[in-house]
Amino acid sequence: MRRILLTNDDGIHAPGLECLAQAFAGLGEVWVVAPHVERSACGRAVTLNRPLRVQEHGPHRLAVEGTPADCVLLACRHFLGGPPDVVVSGVNQGYNIGEDLDYSGTVAAAAEAALQGVRLALAVSVRFDADGACAGRAARFAGQLVSRLGPGGLPAGTFLNLNVPPEPTLRVRQTRQGNPLPPGDVHLGRDPRGRPYYWIGNRPDEPSPPADTDRGALAAGCMSATLVTLERTHPGDFRLPDLSGEGFTAEVE
Ligand code: MN
Repeated sequence: MRRILLTNDDGIHAPGLECLAQAFAGLGEVWVVAPHVERSACGRAVTLNRPLRVQEHGPHRLAVEGTPADCVLLACRHFLGGPPDVVVSGVNQGYNIGEDLDYSGTVAAAAEAALQGVRLALAVSVRFDADGACAGRAARFAGQLVSRLGPGGLPAGTFLNLNVPPEPTLRVRQTRQGNPLPPGDVHLGRDPRGRPYYWIGNRPDEPSPPADTDRGALAAGCMSATLVTLERTHPGDFRLPDLSGEGFTAEVE
């Protein structure tokens, strides 16, 4: 029987996680290990300078006072006694596309799973304003995808980043990560005591995203599936200048 770990970055009480629990019940031995509160946009952070408390919310259901990456790490290394066969992170309220992949805790959980040797790790996200029906469809599609991919899973060191549009569709496009967009404006406000605060705004939309990207697929009303690798070396042939030898010294006399 396949062991399936479900997690997220919206917290253990998030409706999207419940959608995953319903979709994956019956597909294997399901564990839920998720942050006890929302930890969106915490990236791949792990907690190293304080202990991690854990609350049991039922059988195979644990809330961790930590990040999504903490949850996957603890599950793989301790609670499950080894990496599960499948890790699914989501269903996140908000797309994870383009530069979101670096900020997202949802995506980070899938990345951590791939690092821990899980051969079938998925991040699943819907638009920020998507309703519960959309999250349910996304979760069921993830379940079907896991069943179809079989025991071999994905290539080692990779995970799948799935984004599902609000309108029901059967169309899926295998995409590449979209172009990174600059962040939105920083908004300046005043608190009730007159002190300034700063609030990072949403980035503007990309006017016409390339069709083969995650954004392009979603703009066309398709689901987007990107196979993401942990390897981050630039694939091109750009060469740095010779960094060794005379004329390049680390210290100046
Ligand atoms: Mn989130």
